[in-house]
Amino acid sequence: MATIAPPITKVPNYINGHWTHSSAREWLDISNPATGEVLAQAPLSDAAEVADAVESAAAAFPEWRRTPPEDRIQPLFKLKPILEEQVDDLARILTQENGKTLTEARAELRRAIENVEVACGIPMMMQGCNLEDVARGIDEIMIRQPLGVVAAIVPFNFPGMIPFWFLPYAIATGNTFVLKPSERVPLTSRRLFELLEQTGLPRGVVNMVNGGKDAVNALLDHPKVRAISFVGSTPVARYVYERAAANGKRAQCQGGAKNHVIVLPDADMKMTTQIIGDSAFGCAGQRCLAVSVAVTVGEAQKTFRDSIREAAASLKVGNGLEEGVQMGPVITPQSRGRVESLIAAGEQQGAKVLLDGRNPKIPRHEAGNFVKPTILDGVPATSELTDTEIFGPVLSMVHANDLDEALAFLERSKYGNQASLFTSSGASARRFRYEAPAGNIGINIGVAAPMAYFPFSGWKDSFFGVLHAQGRDAIEFYTDKKIVVERWAKEHSRKF
Ligand code: NAD
Repeated sequence: MATIAPPITKVPNYINGHWTHSSAREWLDISNPATGEVLAQAPLSDAAEVADAVESAAAAFPEWRRTPPEDRIQPLFKLKPILEEQVDDLARILTQENGKTLTEARAELRRAIENVEVACGIPMMMQGCNLEDVARGIDEIMIRQPLGVVAAIVPFNFPGMIPFWFLPYAIATGNTFVLKPSERVPLTSRRLFELLEQTGLPRGVVNMVNGGKDAVNALLDHPKVRAISFVGSTPVARYVYERAAANGKRAQCQGGAKNHVIVLPDADMKMTTQIIGDSAFGCAGQRCLAVSVAVTVGEAQKTFRDSIREAAASLKVGNGLEEGVQMGPVITPQSRGRVESLIAAGEQQGAKVLLDGRNPKIPRHEAGNFVKPTILDGVPATSELTDTEIFGPVLSMVHANDLDEALAFLERSKYGNQASLFTSSGASARRFRYEAPAGNIGINIGVAAPMAYFPFSGWKDSFFGVLHAQGRDAIEFYTDKKIVVERWAKEHSRKF
């Protein structure tokens, strides 16, 4: 008997505490990158739907900002065990739509929970300061107040974590929030919002609108949106920053990357190889902190080249849901095509393909978007690849005679998200930490991802703005400072 395929889920929006069917004319198929199977359809919501979400957040704001911080964090305390209980279920959804392995998905969700934990400290972190007697009988107070409606626009590569760089801090400081997930991975966000619904948050405090660039433009232009948090590629980050600023909004926009690692000859080569391999090929190279260029110094060239080639060739590539798989596919067939054409361009421009991951055969997964680990050796400094973010499992190798020459590669890069050094020399490490032109630094670390209580930094074209995501920067970003200078008649004088 023929089986009947289940109907394709149409992903709803979440507005004012209700799941609403989008009236979008255009819907995108959401496919499992490992199998090509269509999982759902995501709406490209229009400006009117975005306006509904913003109005819902605006209506919830007056009551929410008056809710004591202690009460505002209670839903986050409830959310933490819910997320912990649901990690496996969430990881499965995430792997199905994004392609990364279950282990990677679980690790990502752990970072989301960490941000929830940190935001629970807002009654302490949001405090202002005061000073009595700035002049005789006059006191001065600095208070932090929430902004109003704030929005976050996020990328496809960490759908479980990146919304949590923003949402917990935004609402705990008293703002109301609109999330625009990546239109390529809307299912993790949908599940996260189902879980948020169980925490008792009042209607309208958190909202979600699915969509693409029209939805983004609607958020950027809506007069009631006070602040925009963005994570994605550099051209879009720059555009979002400029348009948000032109509309008088506060903006923090994290962009793309091309992360360099320097390997000195005194590094522990076994550990170095394993860590750099994880960084370059983990999440199929689709991490903004993935090592993308390895600069070997002196005799590290030969030792590291041989060991990384062997490690990369041995990685088990396949469906992230399957036991033992160490690397999944890239997100879309277009992404696969782009990665493969950049490898070809590197070859044409003079690089040697030391390990070629193009057109792999993954049994039972012929329709998946797989590229196996690839290593390009001797990429010329002047080639197009030097400055192009590949965002796939491709490690480029270049060589330098000493640390000065190696650091010059980093100086030339237009990006500054992360830079790492592998060495056993404290002096080299200190020099690197001091001079490396990037916002996140790893010393014998391949993915220098800041914990939630540190800002997620980023320099040069990897970040547009001043205040970063996470930790104290998030509190600063989501609050306005108000200064009060007070004089009272002596008998009513305020005592702090
Ligand atoms: P992307 O720039 O294509 O999309 C990001 C968001 O912008 C999505 O929500 C998308 O809908 C929206 N968008 C896309 N094109 C737009 C346009 N023309 N106008 C308005 N909005 C638009 O990025 P992606 O492919 O989803 O994610 C990968 C990129 O994100 C990589 O460049 C990666 O380095 C970067 N990233 C950076 C960080 C960081 O912390 N710096 C973290 C994760 C990812």
